[in-house]
Amino acid sequence: MIHSFDALILGGGAAGLMCAIEAGKRGRRVAVLERADRLGKKILISGGGRCNFTNLHCQPESFLSSNPHFAKSALARYTPADFIALVEKHRIPYHEKTLGQIFCDRSARDILKMLEEECRAAVVSIFLNTKIQEVSRPANFVVRTPSAEFHAPALVVATGGLSIPKIGATSFGYDLARQFGLKIRDPWPGLVPLVLAAEDRSHYCDLTGVSADVTASCNEQHFREKMLITHRGLSGPAILQISSYWKQPQQIGIDLAPGREVTAIFRDPKAPRNSAMLAAELRKLQAHRFADRWLDLHAPASWTNPALADFERQAHAWTITPAGTEGFDKAEVTAGGVDTDELSAKTMESRKVPGLYFIGEVVDVTGHLGGFNFQWAWASGAAAGRAL
Ligand SMILES: Cc1cc2nc3c(=O)[nH]c(=O)nc-3n(C[C@H](O)[C@H](O)[C@H](O)COP(=O)(O)OP(=O)(O)OC[C@H]3O[C@@H](n4cnc5c(N)ncnc54)[C@H](O)[C@@H]3O)c2cc1C
Repeated sequence: MIHSFDALILGGGAAGLMCAIEAGKRGRRVAVLERADRLGKKILISGGGRCNFTNLHCQPESFLSSNPHFAKSALARYTPADFIALVEKHRIPYHEKTLGQIFCDRSARDILKMLEEECRAAVVSIFLNTKIQEVSRPANFVVRTPSAEFHAPALVVATGGLSIPKIGATSFGYDLARQFGLKIRDPWPGLVPLVLAAEDRSHYCDLTGVSADVTASCNEQHFREKMLITHRGLSGPAILQISSYWKQPQQIGIDLAPGREVTAIFRDPKAPRNSAMLAAELRKLQAHRFADRWLDLHAPASWTNPALADFERQAHAWTITPAGTEGFDKAEVTAGGVDTDELSAKTMESRKVPGLYFIGEVVDVTGHLGGFNFQWAWASGAAAGRAL
């Protein structure tokens, strides 16, 4: 069977659905070809089931890319306010949690249902359980599946990155880009927990579940948020954020008392200089178990001013060299991807292969934690959808 459309969109996730809605609204006959048995599986598991669908403070600086300017145009033309307007049109209750992060009050299912309704209104054809065997371009694009052939002059690749293979992530998008001669920036896991080296693990990992307010730094990036100790290493927002910037074998710096002076009390000549006093001060800033462990491992060499200054310095500059990350199995996002030099920043169309578009996570644009990755999916999807 042969199906002909104006555009084929491969992947029915966040970016693919937004692209289909925008193109459908403009009267284009579009089909979404999705490999899974349902649309938007990642939307459903996102934000702990509540989908952090955008961020009020969306700026180009919230994204990593080998070309930091690339995302600006699409982000400016489809903003968090645009997506929030859509959410409000569907009467979906939402709230700001922290740092501009917008979550559903009820469930991520609300967002998926909204996108599905918008697809229906825009007369988008959806094909689930579609196993793509081959993509060619004799004249138009031809996508072959075991039971049908799809033909269209435009093809949009929205198949996402490598994160969470368990729910269907594959290298399909990168392979297709290579097939058409486009360059790929090597993908790496982003927003991912770090695994500590054996010695650090033996020092800290029995404290699994303890969290600390820290600033994590690497490659001139700094994130002040919570850090969480896991049974293999470190996680929590500060660590997830910095993980996107970390490359083995670099070090990560952790300030355990950001903006505070742990030893300030000892300027008071009446303050007793002893472990109990120092522990009490550190416990004001960190969880008791972590404070006590830190003191066990980094007790000042003496109670002199230079020794206390050294203790202070160490508390602001804990340096770790992670053994690695938890990899794509646990990464919330895939950094790297289709090289932005290959694409138009306005439309996401390939410069080399007219009619071929790449949107969403498969592109070398990666957001910080906090709703930025969905905002990129909506914005890049809308950019392509308006150009089809
Ligand atoms: C656990 C988790 C929580 C997250 N929470 C948030 C959050 O709260 N906020 C946020 O901004 N971001 C979050 N993210 C990141 C966000 O989900 C992704 O960045 C976003 O979904 C990317 O959208 P996409 O459309 O590019 O790719 P995806 O959403 O991954 O969609 C790709 C689609 O393509 C399909 N596909 C793959 N291969 C093929 C093929 N060969 N043929 C046909 N179809 C194919 C897949 O089945 C999938 O439906 C989270 C990610 C994870 C893993």
